[in-house]
Amino acid sequence: MTDTPVIIAVAITGSVPRKADTVAVPVTPAEQVESTHEAFEAGASLVHVHVRDDAEGPSSDIDRFALVLEGVRRHCPGMIVQFSTGGRGRDYDERIAPLTLKPDMGSLATGTVNFPTSIYPNPPDFVERLARTFQAQSVKPEIEVFDLSMLYTAIRMSEEGLIDGPLHVQFVMGIRNALPARREALDFMVAELARLAPDATWTAAGIGRAQRVLHDWALEQGGHLRTGLEDNIRLDRNTMASSNADLVRVAADACRARDRRVATAAEARRILCLPPHAAAVA
Ligand code: ZN
Repeated sequence: MTDTPVIIAVAITGSVPRKADTVAVPVTPAEQVESTHEAFEAGASLVHVHVRDDAEGPSSDIDRFALVLEGVRRHCPGMIVQFSTGGRGRDYDERIAPLTLKPDMGSLATGTVNFPTSIYPNPPDFVERLARTFQAQSVKPEIEVFDLSMLYTAIRMSEEGLIDGPLHVQFVMGIRNALPARREALDFMVAELARLAPDATWTAAGIGRAQRVLHDWALEQGGHLRTGLEDNIRLDRNTMASSNADLVRVAADACRARDRRVATAAEARRILCLPPHAAAVA
C-alpha cells in the first residue's frame, strides 16, 4: 500500500528483562553496543536505549548513556539513537537529564498510565517540562501512546507549539491495564492521527506475543515497526530469541513477506526528518 521503506526500531534492553529471564538481554554498555551492532546489521535503523546499574536495575547514569551513544555512533554509522525518558523507579529530573547528551531522539509519554503492577507517572507539569527540554536540546521526541488520551494530548501540545512537528508517534499495545492488542483500536488511532496530524509518522510496538501481530497490522497500515528484547524475549511460545538481531530478522522477514523494503539508516533519517548525519559526540 506504500513504497515508503519500513523503519525497524530495536528496543534492546528496557527496564524489565534480566539475565535470569534471558541471557540475550544486553545490560552493560559494552553489551548494549555489541547487541545494537548485530541488530543494525540485521536491518534495524533506530535503537531505543535504557541503561542498567550493576545489579541490572533501571538506571539513569548519564555516563552509561554517553557510552552507549558513543559506541553506537562509532560502530553503526547513521543509526538513530533514541533514549528512554521512562524507566521504573527513576525520578523526574533523572529521566530528563540524558537528553542533554543530544541523542537523535527520546521517548515522550504524554500521560500517566497503569502498567501490570505499577503506575507510569507522567503528570502534566512534567510532560510540559520534558517537551520543553526536547525543544531546548533540539532532540526529536517519539510520542509514546499507551492510552488514547495521550494521542490527543500530543496533538494539542503540538498545536500549542510545545512539540515540534512532524510528529512521530508510537502506539504501544499488549500491556496489561493499558491498551490491549486490538486491531480496531489501532485502526482508530491511526485514522485519528491521519486526520489530526496528516504529516505524522508512526510505529506500532506490541508487547510479548503481540509483537509479531503488531508487525503485521503496522505493515498493512503503512506504519513502521518496533521489536527487541525490551518488549518480547521469545521467537515463539517454545523458543527464546537468542539476540536482538534475531528479533530484527523476524521483523525484516515480515516486511519482505509484504513486499515492503527495510529502511537504511539514511532513509530512516529522511523519513523522520532528522539531520542526515548524527552530530559528533563531544
Ligand atoms: Zn523503553
